[in-house]
Amino acid sequence: MTPTLEPMRIDLHTHSATSDGTQSPTELVAAAAAAGLSVIALTDHDTTAGWAEAAAAAQAHGLSFIPGMEVSTKLDALGVHILSYLHDPNCPELQETISCARNSRVARAKKFVENLSRDFDISWEIVYRQVAPGATIGRPHIADALISQGIVRDRNQAFAEMLHRDSPYYVPYTVVSPADAIAQIKQAGGVPVVAHPLARARGHSLDEATLYDFIAAGLAGIEVDHRDHSPQDRDWLRAFAERNNLIITGSSDYHGRGKPNALGENLTHKDDFAELLHRAQPVPS
Ligand code: AMP
Ligand code: FE
Ligand code: FE
Ligand code: ZN
Repeated sequence: MTPTLEPMRIDLHTHSATSDGTQSPTELVAAAAAAGLSVIALTDHDTTAGWAEAAAAAQAHGLSFIPGMEVSTKLDALGVHILSYLHDPNCPELQETISCARNSRVARAKKFVENLSRDFDISWEIVYRQVAPGATIGRPHIADALISQGIVRDRNQAFAEMLHRDSPYYVPYTVVSPADAIAQIKQAGGVPVVAHPLARARGHSLDEATLYDFIAAGLAGIEVDHRDHSPQDRDWLRAFAERNNLIITGSSDYHGRGKPNALGENLTHKDDFAELLHRAQPVPS
């Protein structure tokens, strides 16, 4: 019998409890192996703290591990997420950027909780209990605290009712611009890819001129296949990426139990993955 070659199943956007996912990096990689993935990137928000654990787990399961990160940035009032792959985690500029983002996230979460505590039985102590040691804090942890208090059913309800951008409890946080993050990722030898650029429902939608600005700053790829993109969004983004020689990725944006997104629900083509590896510039040690 001729052996059939298994197609590569490549998922380049996942979160562990090192940010707002619900599983440890080890559990996440085990779930990726069970889902039949061959390549997994860990892209926690503003941290690389999960890389070592995920890499060890991937080796144990025979999976390829791609170190990544999702950098929080802001363009005017619009939150923009820039995925970084294979960058040097010791590069000082990028390190400073994510360290500032994490600090600002803590101050913001405290203020957010103060606002919520006017109307709900919630405190910083209860929220802090939801955050794994050293993890990047975000609104999902506040959601988990509201769930633990029996105030909401799940994260989705917490976002719909209290945590969304137009909520009276909402507090912004301070981060760099997308162009600065893209330049810093390049400087660190990484590959910058804009995450879910047309996720309108979450207020992330970017226009064409903005995408050209990102290309001028060094953008290498676009996350095209993502559950927050309609078929029309995907067609438009795919054509835009092809016109501009950008890598096209498809990913789950898995958050464990925190979201319905399933590992491998969107995948990246092996040729785009090869191009992503090709564009990384390992920093000489
Ligand atoms: P923050 O990092 O504090 O700005 O919170 C944004 C994060 O919340 C995103 O990275 C998502 O993981 C998560 N999120 C946004 N909307 C929802 C939702 N409806 N249900 C669950 N998680 C969500
Ligand atoms: Fe998230
Ligand atoms: Fe994101
Ligand atoms: Zn994400």
